[in-house]
Amino acid sequence: MSSKRIYLSLSQESGFEQQYIKKAFESNWITSGGPNVDQFENELQDYFEEGSYIAALNSGTSAIHLALILLGVKDGDEVICQSMTFSASANPILYQNAIPVFVDSEIETWNICPENLEIAIKDRMLKGKKPKAIIAVHLYGMPYKVDEVHAVAEKYDIPIIEDSAEALGSTYKDKKCGTFGSLGILSFNGNKIITTSSGGAIISKSKEIKAKAIFLATQSKDPAVHYQHSEIGYNYRISNICAGIGLGQIKVLEGNINARRENHFFYREIFKEIKNAKFFDNFNDDFFSNYWLNTILLETKEDREGLRLAFDQANIESRPLWKPMHLQPIFEKYPYYGNKIAEELFEKGLCLPSGSNLTNQDKNRIEEVIINFFK
Ligand SMILES: *Cc1c(COP(=O)(O)O)cnc(C)c1O
Repeated sequence: MSSKRIYLSLSQESGFEQQYIKKAFESNWITSGGPNVDQFENELQDYFEEGSYIAALNSGTSAIHLALILLGVKDGDEVICQSMTFSASANPILYQNAIPVFVDSEIETWNICPENLEIAIKDRMLKGKKPKAIIAVHLYGMPYKVDEVHAVAEKYDIPIIEDSAEALGSTYKDKKCGTFGSLGILSFNGNKIITTSSGGAIISKSKEIKAKAIFLATQSKDPAVHYQHSEIGYNYRISNICAGIGLGQIKVLEGNINARRENHFFYREIFKEIKNAKFFDNFNDDFFSNYWLNTILLETKEDREGLRLAFDQANIESRPLWKPMHLQPIFEKYPYYGNKIAEELFEKGLCLPSGSNLTNQDKNRIEEVIINFFK
Protein backbone atom coordinates (compact mmCIF):
# COMPACT_ATOMS: atom_id res chain seq x y z
CA MET A 1 0.00 0.00 0.00
CA SER A 2 1.38 3.39 -0.99
CA SER A 3 2.41 5.90 1.67
CA LYS A 4 0.07 8.16 3.63
CA ARG A 5 -3.71 8.18 3.41
CA ILE A 6 -5.26 10.89 1.26
CA TYR A 7 -8.45 12.16 2.90
CA LEU A 8 -11.58 13.43 1.24
CA SER A 9 -11.50 16.93 2.63
CA LEU A 10 -9.05 18.59 4.95
CA SER A 11 -8.40 22.28 5.20
CA GLN A 12 -5.08 24.01 5.34
CA GLU A 13 -3.44 25.59 8.37
CA SER A 14 -2.34 29.21 7.94
CA GLY A 15 0.25 29.18 10.73
CA PHE A 16 -1.40 32.24 12.32
CA GLU A 17 -3.91 30.30 14.43
CA GLN A 18 -1.56 29.84 17.40
CA GLN A 19 -0.95 33.54 17.91
CA TYR A 20 -4.68 34.19 18.49
CA ILE A 21 -4.98 31.20 20.80
CA LYS A 22 -1.93 32.42 22.72
CA LYS A 23 -3.48 35.87 23.06
CA ALA A 24 -6.65 34.31 24.46
CA PHE A 25 -4.63 32.41 27.09
CA GLU A 26 -2.48 35.41 27.99
CA SER A 27 -5.53 37.62 28.53
CA ASN A 28 -7.39 34.80 30.30
CA TRP A 29 -10.25 34.87 27.79
CA ILE A 30 -10.65 31.09 27.85
CA THR A 31 -14.40 31.33 27.57
CA SER A 32 -17.30 31.24 25.19
CA GLY A 33 -17.45 34.68 23.59
CA GLY A 34 -14.59 37.18 23.95
CA PRO A 35 -12.35 39.46 21.88
CA ASN A 36 -11.42 36.81 19.28
CA VAL A 37 -15.12 36.14 18.75
CA ASP A 38 -15.91 39.83 18.18
CA GLN A 39 -12.99 40.18 15.78
CA PHE A 40 -13.89 36.96 13.96
CA GLU A 41 -17.43 38.24 13.43
CA ASN A 42 -16.15 41.61 12.21
CA GLU A 43 -13.77 40.02 9.73
CA LEU A 44 -16.51 37.74 8.44
CA GLN A 45 -18.82 40.75 8.07
CA ASP A 46 -16.12 42.54 6.09
CA TYR A 47 -15.84 39.49 3.84
CA PHE A 48 -19.57 39.49 3.14
CA GLU A 49 -21.20 42.60 1.75
CA GLU A 50 -22.55 45.49 3.77
CA GLY A 51 -25.74 44.70 5.54
CA SER A 52 -24.66 41.20 6.63
CA TYR A 53 -24.72 40.78 10.40
CA ILE A 54 -22.96 37.65 11.59
CA ALA A 55 -23.24 35.78 14.88
CA ALA A 56 -20.54 33.15 15.41
CA LEU A 57 -21.70 29.90 17.01
CA ASN A 58 -20.28 26.57 18.06
CA SER A 59 -21.47 24.67 14.95
CA GLY A 60 -23.37 24.92 11.70
CA THR A 61 -26.00 22.64 13.21
CA SER A 62 -26.64 25.11 16.05
CA ALA A 63 -26.87 27.86 13.45
CA ILE A 64 -29.66 25.99 11.63
CA HIS A 65 -31.43 25.31 14.91
CA LEU A 66 -31.33 28.97 15.91
CA ALA A 67 -32.41 30.03 12.41
CA LEU A 68 -35.55 27.91 12.80
CA ILE A 69 -36.21 29.43 16.23
CA LEU A 70 -35.67 32.96 14.90
CA LEU A 71 -38.24 32.26 12.18
CA GLY A 72 -40.71 31.11 14.81
CA VAL A 73 -40.78 27.40 13.90
CA LYS A 74 -42.61 25.52 16.64
CA ASP A 75 -44.18 22.21 17.55
CA GLY A 76 -46.17 20.79 14.63
CA ASP A 77 -45.05 23.37 12.04
CA GLU A 78 -43.93 22.07 8.68
CA VAL A 79 -40.50 22.94 7.27
CA ILE A 80 -39.46 22.12 3.71
CA CYS A 81 -35.93 20.79 3.33
CA GLN A 82 -33.83 19.71 0.38
CA SER A 83 -33.62 15.91 0.61
CA MET A 84 -30.18 15.62 -0.97
CA THR A 85 -28.04 16.97 1.86
CA PHE A 86 -26.17 16.14 5.05
CA SER A 87 -28.42 15.22 7.98
CA ALA A 88 -27.41 18.38 9.88
CA SER A 89 -29.64 20.40 7.51
CA ALA A 90 -32.72 18.47 8.65
CA ASN A 91 -32.10 17.31 12.24
CA PRO A 92 -32.82 20.72 13.81
CA ILE A 93 -36.36 20.56 12.37
CA LEU A 94 -36.92 17.62 14.71
CA TYR A 95 -35.27 19.46 17.63
CA GLN A 96 -38.18 21.92 17.31
CA ASN A 97 -40.74 19.10 17.14
CA ALA A 98 -41.58 20.38 13.69
CA ILE A 99 -42.29 18.21 10.65
CA PRO A 100 -39.77 17.97 7.81
CA VAL A 101 -41.14 17.86 4.27
CA PHE A 102 -38.50 16.73 1.80
CA VAL A 103 -38.08 17.90 -1.78
CA ASP A 104 -36.05 16.33 -4.59
CA SER A 105 -33.14 17.91 -6.47
CA GLU A 106 -32.91 19.04 -10.07
CA ILE A 107 -30.16 17.63 -12.25
CA GLU A 108 -28.21 20.80 -13.08
CA THR A 109 -27.07 21.91 -9.63
CA TRP A 110 -28.20 18.81 -7.67
CA ASN A 111 -30.02 21.18 -5.31
CA ILE A 112 -33.67 21.76 -4.44
CA CYS A 113 -35.87 21.57 -7.53
CA PRO A 114 -38.02 24.72 -7.91
CA GLU A 115 -40.86 22.84 -9.64
CA ASN A 116 -41.09 20.18 -6.98
CA LEU A 117 -40.77 22.87 -4.34
CA GLU A 118 -43.90 24.57 -5.65
CA ILE A 119 -45.75 21.25 -5.94
CA ALA A 120 -44.87 20.54 -2.30
CA ILE A 121 -45.98 23.96 -1.05
CA LYS A 122 -49.31 23.76 -2.91
CA ASP A 123 -50.01 20.28 -1.65
CA ARG A 124 -49.14 21.09 1.97
CA MET A 125 -51.42 24.13 1.80
CA LEU A 126 -54.18 21.99 0.35
CA LYS A 127 -53.70 19.60 3.25
CA GLY A 128 -54.15 22.51 5.64
CA LYS A 129 -50.72 23.87 6.56
CA LYS A 130 -48.51 26.41 4.88
CA PRO A 131 -44.83 25.52 5.42
CA LYS A 132 -43.16 27.85 7.90
CA ALA A 133 -39.70 27.86 6.28
CA ILE A 134 -37.62 26.35 3.47
CA ILE A 135 -34.10 25.00 3.97
CA ALA A 136 -32.20 25.18 0.67
CA VAL A 137 -28.63 23.92 0.40
CA HIS A 138 -25.67 24.83 -1.83
CA LEU A 139 -24.45 21.25 -2.03
CA TYR A 140 -20.72 20.62 -2.45
CA GLY A 141 -20.35 24.38 -2.87
CA MET A 142 -22.58 24.58 -5.96
CA PRO A 143 -25.17 27.36 -5.62
CA TYR A 144 -28.78 26.27 -5.93
CA LYS A 145 -30.94 27.95 -8.59
CA VAL A 146 -31.31 31.08 -6.50
CA ASP A 147 -33.61 33.08 -8.79
CA GLU A 148 -36.04 30.24 -9.42
CA VAL A 149 -36.12 28.93 -5.85
CA HIS A 150 -36.53 32.39 -4.31
CA ALA A 151 -39.26 33.28 -6.81
CA VAL A 152 -41.31 30.33 -5.57
CA ALA A 153 -40.62 31.20 -1.91
CA GLU A 154 -41.64 34.82 -2.48
CA LYS A 155 -44.81 33.85 -4.31
CA TYR A 156 -45.99 32.02 -1.19
CA ASP A 157 -44.24 34.36 1.23
CA ILE A 158 -42.15 31.66 2.94
CA PRO A 159 -38.70 32.53 4.35
CA ILE A 160 -35.62 30.64 3.18
CA ILE A 161 -32.85 29.40 5.43
CA GLU A 162 -29.84 29.23 3.16
CA ASP A 163 -27.60 26.35 4.21
CA SER A 164 -24.26 27.67 3.02
CA ALA A 165 -22.21 25.30 5.19
CA GLU A 166 -20.35 23.98 2.16
CA ALA A 167 -20.43 27.16 0.11
CA LEU A 168 -18.28 29.81 1.78
CA GLY A 169 -16.76 31.67 -1.18
CA SER A 170 -19.29 30.48 -3.76
CA THR A 171 -21.30 33.09 -5.64
CA TYR A 172 -24.44 33.27 -7.74
CA LYS A 173 -24.55 36.12 -10.29
CA ASP A 174 -21.52 37.57 -8.47
CA LYS A 175 -23.30 37.77 -5.11
CA LYS A 176 -21.97 35.70 -2.21
CA CYS A 177 -23.79 32.59 -1.09
CA GLY A 178 -25.06 32.96 2.45
CA THR A 179 -26.66 36.35 1.75
CA PHE A 180 -29.70 35.32 -0.30
CA GLY A 181 -31.90 33.78 2.36
CA SER A 182 -33.86 35.47 5.14
CA LEU A 183 -31.10 33.83 7.17
CA GLY A 184 -27.93 32.11 5.99
CA ILE A 185 -25.76 29.65 7.87
CA LEU A 186 -22.08 28.70 7.68
CA SER A 187 -20.07 25.81 9.12
CA PHE A 188 -16.44 25.85 10.22
CA ASN A 189 -16.16 22.15 10.88
CA GLY A 190 -12.78 20.53 10.21
CA ASN A 191 -13.73 19.38 6.72
CA LYS A 192 -15.13 22.70 5.46
CA ILE A 193 -13.49 25.52 3.52
CA ILE A 194 -12.10 27.06 6.69
CA THR A 195 -12.21 25.50 10.13
CA THR A 196 -12.42 26.62 13.73
CA SER A 197 -12.18 22.90 14.72
CA SER A 198 -15.91 23.14 15.34
CA GLY A 199 -17.95 26.22 14.64
CA GLY A 200 -20.62 27.89 12.60
CA ALA A 201 -22.37 31.19 12.04
CA ILE A 202 -25.70 32.69 11.28
CA ILE A 203 -25.86 35.47 8.70
CA SER A 204 -28.74 37.89 9.13
CA LYS A 205 -29.75 41.21 7.66
CA SER A 206 -30.01 43.30 10.83
CA LYS A 207 -28.18 44.14 14.05
CA GLU A 208 -31.30 43.22 15.99
CA ILE A 209 -31.51 39.70 14.60
CA LYS A 210 -27.81 39.17 15.21
CA ALA A 211 -28.28 40.34 18.81
CA LYS A 212 -31.26 38.02 19.22
CA ALA A 213 -29.22 35.07 17.89
CA ILE A 214 -26.44 35.80 20.40
CA PHE A 215 -29.03 36.19 23.18
CA LEU A 216 -30.48 32.74 22.43
CA ALA A 217 -27.00 31.23 22.04
CA THR A 218 -25.91 32.45 25.49
CA GLN A 219 -28.77 31.01 27.58
CA SER A 220 -31.32 33.79 26.92
CA LYS A 221 -30.37 35.92 29.89
CA ASP A 222 -32.86 38.75 30.41
CA PRO A 223 -31.43 42.12 31.45
CA ALA A 224 -31.23 41.75 35.27
CA VAL A 225 -28.50 41.61 37.91
CA HIS A 226 -29.42 38.02 38.75
CA TYR A 227 -29.98 35.33 36.10
CA GLN A 228 -33.50 35.81 34.79
CA HIS A 229 -34.94 33.80 31.87
CA SER A 230 -38.21 34.23 30.05
CA GLU A 231 -37.20 32.24 26.97
CA ILE A 232 -35.52 28.88 26.45
CA GLY A 233 -31.77 29.41 26.19
CA TYR A 234 -29.03 27.50 24.40
CA ASN A 235 -25.30 27.13 24.91
CA TYR A 236 -24.41 27.68 21.26
CA ARG A 237 -21.85 30.51 21.31
CA ILE A 238 -18.43 29.84 19.79
CA SER A 239 -15.51 29.75 22.22
CA ASN A 240 -12.86 32.43 22.20
CA ILE A 241 -10.24 29.75 21.46
CA CYS A 242 -12.10 28.39 18.43
CA ALA A 243 -12.71 31.93 17.14
CA GLY A 244 -8.93 32.42 17.42
CA ILE A 245 -8.42 29.47 15.08
CA GLY A 246 -10.99 31.11 12.80
CA LEU A 247 -9.03 34.38 12.73
CA GLY A 248 -5.96 32.48 11.60
CA GLN A 249 -8.03 30.60 9.03
CA ILE A 250 -9.64 33.68 7.49
CA LYS A 251 -6.14 34.60 6.28
CA VAL A 252 -6.11 31.52 4.05
CA LEU A 253 -9.76 31.66 2.97
CA GLU A 254 -9.03 32.94 -0.53
CA GLY A 255 -6.07 30.58 -0.81
CA ASN A 256 -8.19 27.60 0.25
CA ILE A 257 -10.89 28.47 -2.26
CA ASN A 258 -8.29 28.77 -5.01
CA ALA A 259 -6.74 25.45 -3.98
CA ARG A 260 -10.17 23.75 -4.13
CA ARG A 261 -10.88 25.30 -7.50
CA GLU A 262 -7.50 24.16 -8.79
CA ASN A 263 -8.37 20.63 -7.70
CA HIS A 264 -11.46 21.03 -9.81
CA PHE A 265 -9.52 21.99 -12.92
CA PHE A 266 -7.16 19.06 -12.30
CA TYR A 267 -10.11 16.65 -12.29
CA ARG A 268 -11.80 18.36 -15.22
CA GLU A 269 -8.75 17.66 -17.39
CA ILE A 270 -8.69 13.99 -16.42
CA PHE A 271 -12.40 13.43 -16.98
CA LYS A 272 -12.39 15.19 -20.36
CA GLU A 273 -10.92 11.96 -21.73
CA ILE A 274 -13.22 9.58 -19.86
CA LYS A 275 -16.52 8.71 -21.44
CA ASN A 276 -18.04 6.49 -18.74
CA ALA A 277 -18.16 9.11 -16.03
CA LYS A 278 -19.88 12.46 -15.90
CA PHE A 279 -17.91 15.15 -14.12
CA PHE A 280 -20.05 17.59 -12.13
CA ASP A 281 -19.38 21.16 -13.22
CA ASN A 282 -20.95 24.65 -13.28
CA PHE A 283 -23.79 24.47 -15.71
CA ASN A 284 -23.55 28.13 -16.62
CA ASP A 285 -21.60 31.26 -15.70
CA ASP A 286 -24.14 32.51 -13.15
CA PHE A 287 -22.90 29.76 -10.86
CA PHE A 288 -19.47 30.06 -9.26
CA SER A 289 -18.74 27.12 -7.00
CA ASN A 290 -15.93 26.97 -4.46
CA TYR A 291 -15.86 23.27 -5.48
CA TRP A 292 -15.74 22.24 -1.87
CA LEU A 293 -15.92 18.67 -3.11
CA ASN A 294 -15.47 17.38 -6.64
CA THR A 295 -17.96 14.77 -7.66
CA ILE A 296 -18.67 12.43 -10.57
CA LEU A 297 -21.55 10.25 -11.70
CA LEU A 298 -20.65 6.74 -12.81
CA GLU A 299 -22.86 4.67 -15.12
CA THR A 300 -23.91 2.17 -12.48
CA LYS A 301 -23.87 1.66 -8.74
CA GLU A 302 -21.38 -1.20 -9.27
CA ASP A 303 -18.96 1.10 -11.10
CA ARG A 304 -19.26 3.63 -8.33
CA GLU A 305 -18.43 1.02 -5.72
CA GLY A 306 -15.64 -0.35 -7.91
CA LEU A 307 -13.93 3.01 -8.15
CA ARG A 308 -14.40 3.65 -4.45
CA LEU A 309 -12.70 0.35 -3.63
CA ALA A 310 -9.90 1.03 -6.12
CA PHE A 311 -9.22 4.30 -4.32
CA ASP A 312 -9.35 2.58 -0.97
CA GLN A 313 -6.82 -0.02 -2.16
CA ALA A 314 -4.48 2.86 -2.91
CA ASN A 315 -5.11 4.33 0.56
CA ILE A 316 -7.22 7.18 -0.81
CA GLU A 317 -10.54 8.18 0.70
CA SER A 318 -13.58 8.78 -1.53
CA ARG A 319 -17.27 8.65 -0.57
CA PRO A 320 -20.69 8.13 -2.14
CA LEU A 321 -22.80 11.31 -2.36
CA TRP A 322 -25.10 12.14 0.55
CA LYS A 323 -27.81 9.57 1.03
CA PRO A 324 -31.06 11.52 0.58
CA MET A 325 -32.90 12.34 3.79
CA HIS A 326 -36.21 10.82 2.68
CA LEU A 327 -34.42 7.44 2.47
CA GLN A 328 -32.92 7.69 5.96
CA PRO A 329 -34.53 5.53 8.66
CA ILE A 330 -35.00 8.57 10.91
CA PHE A 331 -36.80 10.59 8.22
CA GLU A 332 -38.51 8.07 5.93
CA LYS A 333 -41.94 8.50 7.51
CA TYR A 334 -42.13 12.19 6.53
CA PRO A 335 -43.61 13.56 3.29
CA TYR A 336 -41.46 13.63 0.15
CA TYR A 337 -42.07 15.39 -3.15
CA GLY A 338 -40.08 14.51 -6.21
CA ASN A 339 -38.94 11.89 -8.61
CA LYS A 340 -35.84 9.80 -8.43
CA ILE A 341 -33.12 12.38 -9.03
CA ALA A 342 -31.67 12.33 -5.51
CA GLU A 343 -31.84 8.51 -5.45
CA GLU A 344 -29.95 8.26 -8.69
CA LEU A 345 -27.30 10.74 -7.57
CA PHE A 346 -26.82 8.70 -4.43
CA GLU A 347 -26.50 5.42 -6.32
CA LYS A 348 -24.07 6.55 -8.99
CA GLY A 349 -22.28 9.50 -7.47
CA LEU A 350 -18.85 9.61 -5.87
CA CYS A 351 -17.07 12.44 -4.03
CA LEU A 352 -13.39 12.69 -4.91
CA PRO A 353 -10.56 13.84 -2.63
CA SER A 354 -10.76 17.63 -2.67
CA GLY A 355 -8.94 19.02 0.35
CA SER A 356 -7.13 22.33 0.03
CA ASN A 357 -4.00 20.51 1.26
CA LEU A 358 -3.66 18.10 -1.71
CA THR A 359 -0.08 18.04 -3.00
CA ASN A 360 1.04 17.35 -6.57
CA GLN A 361 2.22 13.96 -5.39
CA ASP A 362 -1.27 13.25 -3.99
CA LYS A 363 -2.78 14.29 -7.30
CA ASN A 364 -0.49 11.93 -9.20
CA ARG A 365 -1.61 9.04 -7.01
CA ILE A 366 -5.26 9.96 -7.51
CA GLU A 367 -4.88 10.31 -11.27
CA GLU A 368 -3.22 6.91 -11.52
CA VAL A 369 -6.16 5.19 -9.83
CA ILE A 370 -8.68 6.93 -12.08
CA ILE A 371 -6.77 6.21 -15.30
CA ASN A 372 -6.28 2.54 -14.38
CA PHE A 373 -9.91 2.11 -13.38
CA PHE A 374 -11.30 3.43 -16.66
CA LYS A 375 -8.67 1.74 -18.87
C1 LIG B 1 -21.36 20.49 7.63
C2 LIG B 1 -22.75 20.78 7.28
C3 LIG B 1 -23.68 21.26 8.22
C4 LIG B 1 -23.42 21.30 9.71
O1 LIG B 1 -22.34 21.94 10.13
P1 LIG B 1 -21.59 21.51 11.49
O2 LIG B 1 -20.70 22.68 11.72
O3 LIG B 1 -20.87 20.26 11.21
O4 LIG B 1 -22.61 21.36 12.56
C5 LIG B 1 -24.94 21.59 7.79
N1 LIG B 1 -25.30 21.47 6.51
C6 LIG B 1 -24.46 20.99 5.58
C7 LIG B 1 -24.93 20.88 4.17
C8 LIG B 1 -23.16 20.61 5.93
O5 LIG B 1 -22.34 20.11 5.01
